Amino acid sequence: MSHIFLASPHMSDEGYEKEYIKEAFDTNWIAPLGKNVNEFENEIKDKLGTKAAVALSCGTAAIHMAIKSLGVKKDDIIFCQSLTFSASANPITYEKAIPVFIDSDESWNMSPVALRKAFEKYKDNLPKAVIVVHLYGLASNIKEIKEICNEYNVSLIEDAAESLATTIDGKYTGTFGDYGIISFNGNKIITSSGGGMFLANTDDADERAKKVLFWATQAREQARHYEHKEIGYNYRMSNIVAGIGRGQLKVLDQRVIKKRYIYEYYQKELGNLEGLTMMPRDKYKSYSNCWLSTIQLDENCKVRPLDIIIALEENDIESRPIWKPMHLQPVFKDYDYIDNDATSERLFNNGVCLPSDTKMSDEDLNRICKIIKGLWE
Ligand SMILES: *Cc1c(COP(=O)(O)O)cnc(C)c1O
Repeated sequence: MSHIFLASPHMSDEGYEKEYIKEAFDTNWIAPLGKNVNEFENEIKDKLGTKAAVALSCGTAAIHMAIKSLGVKKDDIIFCQSLTFSASANPITYEKAIPVFIDSDESWNMSPVALRKAFEKYKDNLPKAVIVVHLYGLASNIKEIKEICNEYNVSLIEDAAESLATTIDGKYTGTFGDYGIISFNGNKIITSSGGGMFLANTDDADERAKKVLFWATQAREQARHYEHKEIGYNYRMSNIVAGIGRGQLKVLDQRVIKKRYIYEYYQKELGNLEGLTMMPRDKYKSYSNCWLSTIQLDENCKVRPLDIIIALEENDIESRPIWKPMHLQPVFKDYDYIDNDATSERLFNNGVCLPSDTKMSDEDLNRICKIIKGLWE
């Protein structure tokens, strides 16, 4: 029996990615830039309906650029969702700013109640930004979070790394915040082998994108020689990588259909097991990309997350715990955290990410479900 991945790269059956790469080879636009990079940006802009997009080496770089775009300086405060992957928070420290972690609610994402508490607590030292995430492709309560940010006149950065193609009330995630970021890392819903994009939705989006492009290409001033007035970064996406991304974008909607099918398969097969709940899909009039199908077990459920993970592992099947909240991470232990009934701890302690690879067959899914159901017998 074959190994089953949690989520692995899934290139198009049609070979679109290879065509774009071939064109890059044929024209020798291997690097630095080239048609694929510009077209990939335009295609993402058109698909998502964002005002500007800059293709970068990864999503983490895009978050860094969003933080820089807000003029964040040493000791500025940034509110960041605690239940997330560390890449949401790490760039805060690149600019020597101070993260304050915010708990989640039943949406699995930032709790507006905890966010309000945080604003109350920090009303004399307001944050420069709020970073909200759409975890596992699940919509956050973005409208309420945006309203709170507007009340305090604080900018919103939307980490849509895991939620590419998820819509809320018909609008794509990544386009609600002042700035959004997406990722094309290897295990995301589509991959360019590695890469990300900075999205700008502000009135001055084009100007912001231009500045990000400038920083991301070593902050080289307009001059014949190499002139630098600011610190730069080497963050730009290559033309080869962008070619893979363009090919993948053509199958994004197909991937969402398969991801949702996987979720529904688990729901049908496992949804009735005592003490097991599927993640809360499609809240807030959303349509989730279901990047990873995740489950929660009741505190007193006889089966524990580790039982599932180990049982699958013994059958050569990959699964994973839920992201460990940032406020519980040793590296962030000295920073403040605003709690909402310890929701993120609970989700972490009781959750499992089930295999969500879009290449899985019904046979694979059946094999997984049988192993899990066996733990209840
Ligand atoms: C993957 C991910 C990122 C970072 O994207 P990279 O392209 O891997 O740098 C950021 N935030 C979240 C929530 C992610 O899952």
